[in-house]
Amino acid sequence: MAAYDYDLFVIGAGSAGVRAGRMAASYGARVAVAEERYLGGTCVNVGCIPKKLLAYAAHFAEDFEDAVNFGWSVGARRFDWPTLIANKDAEIHRLNDVYGHVLRGAGVRIIDGRARITDPHSVEVGGRSHTAATLLVATGGWPTVPDIPGREHVITSNEAFFLEALPRRVVIVGGGYVAIEFAGIFNGMGAETTLAYRGPLFLRGFDRDVRAHMAQEVAKKGVRLVFNAEVVSVTKAADGLTATLADGTVLAADTILTATGRAPNVEGLGLEAAGVELNLKGAVVVDETYRSSLPSIYAIGDVTDRVQLTPVAIAEGMAVARTLFRGEATSVNYADIPTTVFSQPNFGAVGLTEEHAREACDGVTVYKSAFRALKHTISGRDEQTLMKLIVETATDRVVGVHMVGPDAGEIIQGMAVAMKAGAKKADFDATIGIHPTAAEEFVTMREPVAQARPEAAA
Ligand code: NDP
Repeated sequence: MAAYDYDLFVIGAGSAGVRAGRMAASYGARVAVAEERYLGGTCVNVGCIPKKLLAYAAHFAEDFEDAVNFGWSVGARRFDWPTLIANKDAEIHRLNDVYGHVLRGAGVRIIDGRARITDPHSVEVGGRSHTAATLLVATGGWPTVPDIPGREHVITSNEAFFLEALPRRVVIVGGGYVAIEFAGIFNGMGAETTLAYRGPLFLRGFDRDVRAHMAQEVAKKGVRLVFNAEVVSVTKAADGLTATLADGTVLAADTILTATGRAPNVEGLGLEAAGVELNLKGAVVVDETYRSSLPSIYAIGDVTDRVQLTPVAIAEGMAVARTLFRGEATSVNYADIPTTVFSQPNFGAVGLTEEHAREACDGVTVYKSAFRALKHTISGRDEQTLMKLIVETATDRVVGVHMVGPDAGEIIQGMAVAMKAGAKKADFDATIGIHPTAAEEFVTMREPVAQARPEAAA
């Protein structure tokens, strides 16, 4: 091993790379991490963390309104975007420093600059060559922008976090996590917000009831939802921008944010020249232990375009460190990964949708509850919480848990533990609720709303 400068050279100090580097160093490996942009990657800088801070900020708008019927007199309200962005930036800088300390503290060398793979064991950063027994590609992803005329006028989530002012009118293109989260953020802060999605109903791939419920609740909060809306061009107008749809509709905005997915960040890395196989989307193809087509090059996180979630990237980082430096071939168990969209209201889920369960299970029993949360009986807010349990009838196993409502992410995390442990509906029934909470509904649902054998569903 000493023939190389390092045992492991990690390219990219995001969630995946940092965790892999730290763990590898803790197992005694000599590790370097190259990072060209910012420590902490997408999640820390232009993803999960700043997004959640902005989502908190947006929610205050409702909190002030809701307080009134609880007896509070709330004075004049004014939202100041630059204050929020400055405080957010300060927190992100603090986190960047924490990542630096943690890596250095673990004995990892941080190399600033863009790395390029020059051969299966070598990378070049800023004109200097470094060698390692194993190279680990953890460069993440980058937002894609549809190839339409005027695309140079739009922004992506990367820029949305650094706008100098809150736009008065925002059009958001897309119907996935980023689009819906930013719709809630801009709408909550008072911008006139339109979400344009190309299909008939956003959040494709999630449970049908949840998608319909989300559309209802998001619209109630004031976001203008335009479905079956294919944006074909963007033009600069005298007083802002316009997005033109395929049917000729024109949407006016000051800012147009495209949130249309992310692509693996592989450009200029030298992967193809080195002989590393990429798939059609440009993602590094890896086996179950994250090894690429070259035995000395591994890849984890969004650059492999599997499950684009930070905790998954972190788990992959730990797995690859164990595989390489503890001699235990490890891969992540991708079953039942819980997820939350930090929209307004939140939506969380773990396991199968009803549609998937009907295809995959031996009979399905569905429990569903839609209700107004206790808080809103006094606040007067017309917000409905939705909870849904999907049970495999033959085994009584809970195979899907879905929630739209406040703190859905916090609640679904616990449900995910129950599902990992193989909980049955009878276990949910035997669990005493915590009263009064919304979450107790998950352990008190007794009457199924639908029952079907797979053949009946077909
Ligand atoms: P998603 O893949 O979630 O959603 C992309 C959306 O854009 C879909 O609605 C898709 O439509 C639409 N779309 C794709 N291409 C085009 C196009 N050319 N023109 C118009 N619309 C298009 O991507 P996001 O950017 O929202 O997020 C990227 C990933 O990051 C997510 O998948 C998620 O894994 C992760 N993420 C996680 C978060 C969390 O955990 N809370 C938060 C943010 C991101 P269609 O469905 O029809 O294909």
